[in-house]
Amino acid sequence: MERILGDHRAEVVIAGAGPAGMSTALFLAKKGIGSTIIEKETFPREKICGDGLSGWVITMLRRINPDLVTKLQELPCQLPSYGVRFFAPNMKAVPLPYRNAKYPDDPPGHIIRRIDFDNLLMEEVLREPLIKVIQGVTIAKLEYGTNDIILTDTSGNFRISAAICVMASGASGKITGSIDPVKRDYKHQATGIRQYFEGVTGVHEGNFVDFYFLDEFLPGYLWVFPQPDGTANVGAGIRTDILKKRKLTLKQVMEQALIQNAHLAERFKNARPLSGIAAWNLPLGSKKIKLSGNRLLLTGDAGSLIDPFTGEGVGNAMWSGFAAAEHIEKAMKAGRFDASFNKQYDRFVYKKLWKELRNSTWIQKLINYPKLFNWVMNKVTANPDLQQSLIRMIDDLDERKKLTKISFYLRLLSRK
Ligand SMILES: Cc1cc2nc3c(=O)[nH]c(=O)nc-3n(C[C@H](O)[C@H](O)[C@H](O)COP(=O)(O)OP(=O)(O)OC[C@H]3O[C@@H](n4cnc5c(N)ncnc54)[C@H](O)[C@@H]3O)c2cc1C
Repeated sequence: MERILGDHRAEVVIAGAGPAGMSTALFLAKKGIGSTIIEKETFPREKICGDGLSGWVITMLRRINPDLVTKLQELPCQLPSYGVRFFAPNMKAVPLPYRNAKYPDDPPGHIIRRIDFDNLLMEEVLREPLIKVIQGVTIAKLEYGTNDIILTDTSGNFRISAAICVMASGASGKITGSIDPVKRDYKHQATGIRQYFEGVTGVHEGNFVDFYFLDEFLPGYLWVFPQPDGTANVGAGIRTDILKKRKLTLKQVMEQALIQNAHLAERFKNARPLSGIAAWNLPLGSKKIKLSGNRLLLTGDAGSLIDPFTGEGVGNAMWSGFAAAEHIEKAMKAGRFDASFNKQYDRFVYKKLWKELRNSTWIQKLINYPKLFNWVMNKVTANPDLQQSLIRMIDDLDERKKLTKISFYLRLLSRK
């Protein structure tokens, strides 16, 4: 770890050491390609998040190094999680256990503060001789040299050039010369807040992550994700355009819900906040954007790849790091880093992720119609077969697609 002023050179430069940037570097290293990560903070560092890691994240960890999964499982600061609970506006719960056919002995999901999870990845990065990490440097600008791309920091005294840059700087989007993922299109962005509590009761025995859909806050939702030692990550999120239109204050929405909603008030009657409320943006993958340019690839939140329904972004961030490494290997072999060649990266990413992102966008839109959503949730809470069908939908895309079909709702009509 070092912070150096002056001019630097890298094979590949990566802006940002979140899951996207660190996965890119680790997947490149597996191919024998060196990289330099520039990170504005100094690790271990906080990241505002729900702290829920799905099976998709575990799959990516396993791909990087199966030992990472064991290390994660052994961390005392993580909690294994076995499913999701959706609470309908009438507070009926729909528990949906994750299916875990491939590794039945391993917990399918985990909840862990991002400061700890990202540090686990950073430790792996620092063990890798092909990766250099420069911390405490904020990239402000991208520009082009004759045969390279040059990144400059806010002071103008640090410059690094490389054949190609991977933008992995998350949702902050303030780097001149880069592509703004959502261009202030608030329909494709959500705003979220989170706060840590202790003393929250009513946690599911399988440490399920809880999503609360409250009539007055639809299509947004509150979450309560249990953590070790009886603590919990509690938050609220909603599409930013709706937040602005309704002039909502998320802090107020959450505080009122924890007092006024009888079910939540019971769960929080002995709870105490352990932190202040922190807010951050979620660039949603509800529309395709340009993911590359000349000598430039966008990954993770910088590429607007968050699931529009669940708000999950860590898994896609890590997978896009894998995709970036695959593309960079090809680009190096071909000696091509131009915008036209890099379009292959966009196609590769959307070929893998678009089906799921589109289905989730559809579910996000369904929640926009409270009456329809309430009706579906009432049907599901009353019918175990439908619950099984939803369980399959969690990890089976073709099953999930059924939610986008009129025939699904016609079948619901015929059920008691
Ligand atoms: C309230 C909230 C709740 C969420 N809950 C979940 C959840 O439970 N599960 C889930 O999977 N996802 C969740 N997400 C989404 C998830 O946090 C992101 O999708 C994920 O962190 C994206 O990873 P990333 O590497 O792209 O970006 P980040 O994790 O944001 O990492 C970006 C890195 O770049 C650095 N950086 C930024 N700007 C610069 C710069 N100019 N120069 C150098 N470095 C820079 C940052 O310091 C940071 O280290 C949530 C998000 C929010 C806001």
